[in-house]
Amino acid sequence: MAEDRVRELQDTYPHDLLVDLIRQQLEQERASIALGNPCPSLHELVESVYAQAQALASASPSPVINATGVILHTNLGRAPLSEEALAAMELASKGYCDLEFELDTGIRGHRNIHIERMLCQLTGAEAALVVNNNASGVLLGLTALAKRKEVIVSRGQAVAIGGGFRIPEVMRQSGAKLVEVGTTNVTSAQDFEQAISPRTAALLRVHSSNFRIVGFTESVTLEELVGLGNRYDLLVLDDLGSGCLLDTTLFGLDPEPTMQQSISAGADLAFSSGDKLLGGPQAGIIVGKKHLVDKLKRHPLARAARIDKTRLAGLRATLIPYLKGEALEKIPVWRMIATPLDEMDRRAKKWAGALGDLAQVIDGESMVGGGSLPGGTLPTRLVAIGKQVKKRERNTAQLVAQSLRLQAPPVVGRLSGNVLLLDPRTVPPQEDQAVIEALRSAVAGIQSG
Ligand SMILES: *Cc1c(COP(=O)(O)O)cnc(C)c1O
Repeated sequence: MAEDRVRELQDTYPHDLLVDLIRQQLEQERASIALGNPCPSLHELVESVYAQAQALASASPSPVINATGVILHTNLGRAPLSEEALAAMELASKGYCDLEFELDTGIRGHRNIHIERMLCQLTGAEAALVVNNNASGVLLGLTALAKRKEVIVSRGQAVAIGGGFRIPEVMRQSGAKLVEVGTTNVTSAQDFEQAISPRTAALLRVHSSNFRIVGFTESVTLEELVGLGNRYDLLVLDDLGSGCLLDTTLFGLDPEPTMQQSISAGADLAFSSGDKLLGGPQAGIIVGKKHLVDKLKRHPLARAARIDKTRLAGLRATLIPYLKGEALEKIPVWRMIATPLDEMDRRAKKWAGALGDLAQVIDGESMVGGGSLPGGTLPTRLVAIGKQVKKRERNTAQLVAQSLRLQAPPVVGRLSGNVLLLDPRTVPPQEDQAVIEALRSAVAGIQSG
């Protein structure tokens, strides 16, 4: 506590907190010494405590530059938000707002009214409900509509999506019984029909968001499921995942099913995320038949899964450009998808110029990622670092990658074998200078040993 550096901290942090941090640090060092590691110097101990104190009070999660070329990177926070969404989120959350309050009558309202009409307009649905995320939306739907009943799913769609969202487990949580039909690669409408029993409540389609089955495959279309649903008086539920509202094939990507298609094909309810291809904040969007959405709204789980005012405002502001036909310009995810190749080439060359012969500009692919378009890639131009280094310097790419991650702001690239790849597609152009500075500093650090 008497060390100068710790005294410096006493202006900012309470005495007891610093004592705690020092004790924790000493505890950790003792354990490390007991394992045979050398004893740190007093200076090193003090610096560790100083760093711990600074880290404790720093912003976190903090911004990183995503140069991986994966547009929807779940570990890097999925969709970056539009200026309009950010402004709306600040406006709604800085003070009070009319979240659940009708200004004309002065009586209590419902938070869903801020968004329902807009979602209906965009998707053609009768009704809509927004919840915390898509996983909770699906759980709510299955619980409210299929508890203690059976839900039929193709074996090829009883899948896991990202960390922790596994259809069989979500189904078990909801109390619905999963009935798998067909095989991993081939499922027919007949397979579904044969599994229908008096206990069947719904037929579920799950979009294969993060994988693709190729070769000899056959799956049942949503239209076929709707046909069966009508014939046997069963619900048809569609877990779309990405929340896509635009035609991805216009950009050379695989077709991603949209919410509008799901509604026009006759799905009773469709479930989507807010922060995938929709390009908004984390949210779960449920659109479909009014009597079913009403049932979900009244269910106790809806309260447990409800969305907050900040994201509700952000989601609405994200949807407005779709309504006005401005999504490609206003929504960062779509701006990235729509950026032409020559723009990527120009920027990749600018980045590579900072590195001399250590870097080359090569052809590559950007990925949409994040639980949408598993096979969907966009041609891009990449900065490749370490492609031409000699054998004995094989780890250059790893060293540069690590050093880039430790810059301020950190730059995250993609390692492919012994080459580090950086893709300008997922970096806003106004961050080019920051990337160039990080590259210079990372490489200088490595070259000086
Ligand atoms: C991403 C995804 C989910 C989970 O959505 P979250 O918003 O991450 O909860 C569920 N189903 C499908 C098909 C998905 O793609």
